[in-house]
Formats: sequence, C-alpha cells, structure tokens
Amino acid sequence: MAASNVVFAFVLTLGAGFFALNVQRLVRYMRLGYAENRIDHPLVRLKNVLTIGIGQRKIFRDPIPGAMHATIFWGFLVLTAGTVEILIQGVFSGFSYARILPHPLYALYAASQDAFALFVLAAIAFAYYRRLVLHPRRLDGDNLEHADAYIILGLIGGLMVTLLLANACQFLVDPASIGPEKFVSRGIAAAIAPIDAYPSTPATVFWWLHVLIVLTFLNYLPYSKHLHVVTSLINVFFSNTSGPPQKGVMRFMDLEADVEQFGASDVEHLSWKNLLDGYSCTECGRCTAACPANLTGKLLSPRKIVINTRQRLMEKGPVVTGDRMEFLHPALLHGEGGDAGAQTPAQVMEHRLLDTYISEEELWQCTSCRACVQECPVSIDQLDIINQMRRYLVLSESRFPEEIQPAFESLERNGSPWAFSPADRAKWSEGMEIPTMAELMERGERPDVLFWVGCMGSFDDRAKKITVAFARILKACGINFAILGQEEHCHGDPARRMGNEYLYQMLAKDTVETLNRYDVTTIVTSCPHCFHQLGNEFPQFGGNYEVVHHSTYIERLLQENRVPLQSAEGKRLTVAYHDSCYLGRYNDIYDAPRETLRRALPVVTLVEPPRSRDRGLCCGAGGGRMFMEERVGKRINVERTEELLATGADTIAVACPFCMTMINDGVKAKEADVAVLDIAEVVAGQLQS
Ligand code: SF4
Ligand code: SF4
Repeated sequence: MAASNVVFAFVLTLGAGFFALNVQRLVRYMRLGYAENRIDHPLVRLKNVLTIGIGQRKIFRDPIPGAMHATIFWGFLVLTAGTVEILIQGVFSGFSYARILPHPLYALYAASQDAFALFVLAAIAFAYYRRLVLHPRRLDGDNLEHADAYIILGLIGGLMVTLLLANACQFLVDPASIGPEKFVSRGIAAAIAPIDAYPSTPATVFWWLHVLIVLTFLNYLPYSKHLHVVTSLINVFFSNTSGPPQKGVMRFMDLEADVEQFGASDVEHLSWKNLLDGYSCTECGRCTAACPANLTGKLLSPRKIVINTRQRLMEKGPVVTGDRMEFLHPALLHGEGGDAGAQTPAQVMEHRLLDTYISEEELWQCTSCRACVQECPVSIDQLDIINQMRRYLVLSESRFPEEIQPAFESLERNGSPWAFSPADRAKWSEGMEIPTMAELMERGERPDVLFWVGCMGSFDDRAKKITVAFARILKACGINFAILGQEEHCHGDPARRMGNEYLYQMLAKDTVETLNRYDVTTIVTSCPHCFHQLGNEFPQFGGNYEVVHHSTYIERLLQENRVPLQSAEGKRLTVAYHDSCYLGRYNDIYDAPRETLRRALPVVTLVEPPRSRDRGLCCGAGGGRMFMEERVGKRINVERTEELLATGADTIAVACPFCMTMINDGVKAKEADVAVLDIAEVVAGQLQS
C-alpha cells in the first residue's frame, strides 16, 4: 500500500467516523420519542419506497421543480455507485468495477456516471436560477435557510465538476484508463489540452477534491435541512401505510395507560416517527402551499409545525442526552418561528414545543383536511403532530376556543354537537314509514342495510333534505333498510378531531355496543365524517362493519339499473362537484360522486375547479372548525366558493352535509344565483314520481 493510500484511508476513516458519531447522536435524540410499531404491512411499505421514494411519484405533482429534484435524486443514486468505486480506489489503487463486472454492464455503468453528472449539473443550475431569480413563495425562509440551500447546491455542483474534471485529466494522462462510454469526460479532455505528455497532478488534485467534497457533504448533512438526503427513503418506509383503512386514522389512545400526561406538549410526547419526520423535512413548502388555513392568511403552516418539531428536538436533545450544544448548526435551532433564544440548559428545559415554538392559535386553525399529508413528497404526517398537541391542550390543560365548549357539553348531554333533543332525532322520517332497528327486531326481522343518518342529517334543516332525498332513493330501489332512530347518537368524531379523546371514546364505545347488539354488518351513510369514523376508526374499539358512503351506494344502484329515473330530457346543467376531504383524501373516493351525477343526469356537463380531486380545497368545516369562529384572514368557504363559481357552473354538487353548509354560506356571501345540491338530491330529483 502506497503512502497516498494510507493517507486516504486515514482521511476516510476520519470522515466516516465523524458521520457515524453524528448519526448516533441523531438516533439518540430520536429515541426521546415514544415507541410505536412501524414495521407492519412490509409489502405496502416497500411499495411506498419504490413508488414515492425511488419513483419520486409525489415530487412530480409539481412537474417542473419535480423534474429538477428527481434528476438530482436519481443522479445521486446512480453516482453513489461511482463514489463507492472511487473510495475503494483510494485505498486499493487500480481497483475498478471493470475488473468485476461483465463488459456490457460496466459500459452502461460508466456511461451513466457521465450522463448523470451532466444532468445533475443542469438541474443544479436551474435550482440556483429558481431560488435567485424566480423566488417561489413556498421556498420563503430566512437567510440561514437560504444559505444552507446554496451551500448544499454548491457542494453537489462541486461533486459533479470535480468528478468530470478528474476523469478528463486522467484521460489526458492515460487515454486507455477512460473508456469511450465516459463521453462527457472525454469531450472535456478534448477541450482542455492535447493528449501528449499531460502531467498527472491535475487528475490527482481533482480526484482528491472530489473525495474531500464527498466527505464534507456527508458530514455537513447532519447539520443541515438537507439531512433528508439520508432520511427520506427511511421516512417513506416508516410512514403511515397509505391507503384506507390506515389513511387519516387517528392514533389510538389508551386512556387507562399509566402516563404522566395525555397528548403532546413537547418532543418526548411525540413518537420516534414524528421526530424522524422532523429530520426528513426538505422544507419544500408544498404542504403549506396547499394548506387552506395558510392560503387564506392564517398563522398555521404545516411546514413550520414540522420544522419547529425538529428545532425543538435539536434544542432539547443535546441537553437531555448530555451532548455538547455547540455541535449544533444554527440553521437547525433557528429559522421559521423557531428562534427560541435559549442560552443555558436550564432555559432549554423551561421551553417546550407547545407555546415556545407552536402556538395554540396555530393548532386550532387546522381543518384536518390532509392536504399537507397528501402533498408531502417524503410522506411526513404533519396532521398527526397537530392532533396529538390538540389532545394535550384539551385533556391536560383544558385550553380550547371557548366556542367549542357548548359542542362538548351537548355531545355529553344530548349525544349531538348541537343542543337538540335526542327525541327529535328521527323527526325527518315522519310519514316515510322507515322502520327502526328496534321495531324490526321486535318483528323478528333484519334489514340488509342500516342507514346511519348522522347528527347533521338528523337535526340541520338543510341537511335533513339530503337525508330525505337519500331515503327516497333507497325506498324507490326497494332496499330493505332501517335506521336506529332515537338509539343513534354521535359516534364522537367531532370530539376526537377537537382533541377530546375521553368524550370521543365514551361515545364511540357506546355506539359500537349498539351496533353490535343489532349484529349490524352493512352501514350506509350520507356523511363522509360518519363514513370515515364508522368504517376506519371504529375497528380500534371492536366495531367492524362494511360502511358505504351514499355516493358509492347510489352509483352501484345506478349501475345495476335499479333506480327508477325519469327519461333523460331537460336542460343541460353545468355542474361543478366539490370534493369532500373525508371522502377524497381520506378514502380515495373521487369517481363515485361524479359518476353518480353523470348517470343520473345524462344532460349534465361536469366542470372542475382548478383545485379538485386529491388537490381539492377544503370547505373549512373539518377538524371541528365547523364549531369555531373564523376570525383571522379570508373565510375558507368563501375562497372555495369563489373557485367553484369561477367554473361558470349553474349548480354546485356536494356529497357531505358539512360541505353543504359551508358552500351554501359561501354562495350566500357572494350573492350568487347558483344552486347547491347534494348528489342524493340530484338523483332524487330525477326519480319517477
Ligand atoms: S390538515 Fe389541512 S388545514 Fe391542517 S395543517 Fe394540513 S393542510 Fe393545513
Ligand atoms: S413537511 Fe413535507 S411538504 Fe412540508 S415542507 Fe417538509 S417536506 Fe415539504
């Protein structure tokens, strides 16, 4: 082994060792979070890594920056193979993959190195142009954050340039050592000098520069927001396995557990996965750009929630684990709302994630729409952190907006968030001859389907019309169904979304008991919140039912030609359908309501607002926002209604009683002459009389 090999081995050991120490440090901090199992559904997780991680599926939702990022990412994957070859060469001169790979494979590898080095350089140039000239709003940040991005881009650019120059100079020294596959390096060599008698020093210098940048890059990452280069694939693997029923299901909380507090007020009350989310955030701002609260001028920014979580971990982690704080890069401590200003360990311990970093106001502005989760290219669950912090506010400190107190009280007393008498729950059905489960049981009969009406559908005057319309469709199709009548009460979803897990579990367990007592197997409901809760979250309490939303149910009936519709004559309606978050992003139901409209109204023209389907904008009612005042910024329902009206539609269709209220209010606020109808009302309007 030559002296240069020994020197290199020493430098490599130093660089790799320092990196390993940093990884250990970050893992130690992450372990402050509580344990949770994230290795279930391994095949789904692997699929997510392949499609979302390596395939960069979500990145391409924003095509131009997406292509730029994907080029750099794929370039990294390909060039890592080359980096490994270079590092081995540093220790064992003369090593080359050419010695171990069959020639065609080696030729492909060699060509890929040069080609990707060029592509990555082009992508880096565009990234600089975008940041310096285009200034996209979602990349807004402080000077430290920008400096961090420029340093990383510079290091990646440096890696590519030194790689190509090292190869080019090596070709000038020994043309046989660089094959024709490395066409870019050879091209550069031709531009630099004639081949004859070129000195070997430049090749050696560029080679050393390249490996030093590799090691610098590796060791800068743990102090940079670009830590995601290392953690993003891991984070995607451990993410909530996407797709129902896991999608958007709130964490189970064991209220009997012997814990010091319920919910999260600081990083150690979050799970290790929430903390890994913090390490993995690319700060791309896609989540905040899609957040209905943020884009209507409110304080809440899901990006800030995640960055603050990481900042607080970086502040508290060293103190709790005994690390030296000077290790930390200021970009991780400060930045978006996170300059906590702590100087001593005692001050650090006085801080906490809640209040010092994230305010109560931000947490209550969330509509639980999941747009942030949907957009995040590295599958971070921002909403999970918000939900856990809301639980703490309500359960441990009784801190919540005063206007939700009546909803909590009414849920407890009346089994509904509104102060209606439980005796009036089935009043909408008077004269419709709809049996209750108790009546059928008494007659020794069983329905095929239970129609879960929901609180809005039972008490709200506008929503009751949807309930009646859907019941008319069921009757017209001869469906054997029943309702619970006065035995139905809220399943507790609003309480759960507003952080009151005690109240939620009380209502949920009681509902499961009622449903199981009647041996219910199939439930149909016109409310997406009921649909999600009964179908996806009730299994946490032993309630396992087939739950179908009325959009899917009506579409099936239409497909089977069971709905007696009038002949398809009449005016050509232009309809804009508004996607409900709990139907769409939570449960992937986008086509059924649209297909229902098309089938029920053959003379319909469906128009889409710019934000639709999984990018649909929330109506503003979810996450308990229905029960809170919207005092800051523009009203979300008005923003959404404006988008729907801009389509030129003469009818707005919805498939959720909450959306109905919000969009109706929006239409009234805009004084627009547009009908707002639930899809059940559209179909019921076409029934033969
Ligand atoms: S769930 Fe919706 S409202 Fe809440 S932070 Fe995410 S995008 Fe914003
Ligand atoms: S949480 Fe996800 S979408 Fe939001 S800034 Fe971070 S990486 Fe981007």
